[in-house]
Amino acid sequence: MKIKIKINDKVKVTAGKDKGKTGKVIQVMPQDDKVVVEGVNVMYKHIKSRKSGEKGQRVQFNGPINSSNVVVICPKCSKESRLGIRVTKSPADPKKVQRARFCKKCNEVID
Ligand SMILES: [Zn+2]
Repeated sequence: MKIKIKINDKVKVTAGKDKGKTGKVIQVMPQDDKVVVEGVNVMYKHIKSRKSGEKGQRVQFNGPINSSNVVVICPKCSKESRLGIRVTKSPADPKKVQRARFCKKCNEVID
């Protein structure tokens, strides 16, 4: 399955521990079919201090989640939507095609 989510898309989580949360996509991993969403799947990494006697640091980061566990919220109609890909001929060169994402709810092109 080709991933249709892009960085900066607003998405809603539909499964897992963060179900119902919304956030902005900050990273897309197409090879793993995963996305990283701001504020979702918060994890902590402990970094040990190199100096002895000093406290280590706890660093917060967002773990990746499966792209199938999120739906994009359409920026045009604000509804949860599955996106489609519309292939159109380029007006400048009819031999070339353009691919644009569109909302299946309101039919607006999203890119
Ligand atoms: Zn829409």
